[in-house]
Amino acid sequence: MSTTSPLTSSAPTKERLLVIYTGGTIGMLQQANGLTPGGNFRERLHQALSHLPLAQRQNLPAYDVISYSSLIDSSAATPLNWQQLARDIADNVNAYRGFVIIHGTDTLSWTAASLAYQLQGIDRPVVLTGAMQPLEAPNSDALDNLYGAFRFAVQPALQEVAIYFANRLLRGVRSIKQHSNAVDAFSSPNYPLIGERVGDDFIHYPSRGLACQQRGAPRFELADYLPVAQGEVARVVLWPGISAWQLESILGDSRIKGALLQLWGAGNIPSNPDLLALIAKASGEGKLIAAISQCPQGSIHLGAYAAGDGLADAGVLSGDDMTPEAAYTKLVHLLAQPLSFEDQRRRFLTPLVGER
Ligand code: ASP
Repeated sequence: MSTTSPLTSSAPTKERLLVIYTGGTIGMLQQANGLTPGGNFRERLHQALSHLPLAQRQNLPAYDVISYSSLIDSSAATPLNWQQLARDIADNVNAYRGFVIIHGTDTLSWTAASLAYQLQGIDRPVVLTGAMQPLEAPNSDALDNLYGAFRFAVQPALQEVAIYFANRLLRGVRSIKQHSNAVDAFSSPNYPLIGERVGDDFIHYPSRGLACQQRGAPRFELADYLPVAQGEVARVVLWPGISAWQLESILGDSRIKGALLQLWGAGNIPSNPDLLALIAKASGEGKLIAAISQCPQGSIHLGAYAAGDGLADAGVLSGDDMTPEAAYTKLVHLLAQPLSFEDQRRRFLTPLVGER
């Protein structure tokens, strides 16, 4: 699995980072059918880091690398990939100062959100990063992102799952991919930066961090995600004119155990009583139904408008200002555990890792 960085091979293991490479544009190579994940990442990473100015190279921590045997474009990720990452981090948590996850950008924020729930109470950094351009491409953003992720991943005060991208450190479970090609592809619309790069300083804002907001030892929850990975949890983004039969084709399916609804604005649905009735029926059958807004910024307030009145009575759980990633992966996480329906509902409404 792991190999030692020849850059800084003398540091004791506990001062090291563990880098886990999963795939993504950052490590891709051009093939006849387009960009595909490339291997030999340890050597390529070492080669890339050797191009940093000497002063920056001297600031790099030692690291080991795990390169997954199945490297993916992150559009192929499933909850099982989230589960594998959480287990690999949990297995190694006491051996490393921090963790850097190299990941495709398309679903990076989904993986970050899921890891936050699985690794609750983590007492060291887990920093996900990637790039919009491959490592070896001219003017790639990869090297800057890697360097920043490495620098933040050794900071003991950072005790949560974060995303480092384009000079900014974001809470993982608050982040979304906001741009399909700009280098500052990520934002956390309802939460401030938890750190940033200024010159060659990597500044963490501890008062915004989980270490200050939630004390406690790691209490990892490494549930079996296989059932939820087979389609038990759905996401439905409303559209104008949505019909009850369309929603029923999802919520009414007996395989569905939970669903995230993305409503209009402050939490409104079309004034079609059939829609409300079938949501209430699904919830009454023990399905975990949660709602957030389609607006990336702001929160829902169920019942603020007549158009949203009745949703709470229909059993819909408010996701407040959570991102789709945070709300969906929380449903997955809760449904994967042997919790009662009431406990699942109570925990959904409780902030577990600063997600709401
Ligand atoms: N399709 C790529 C992925 O998510 C995009 C990227 O990494 O930027 O794996």
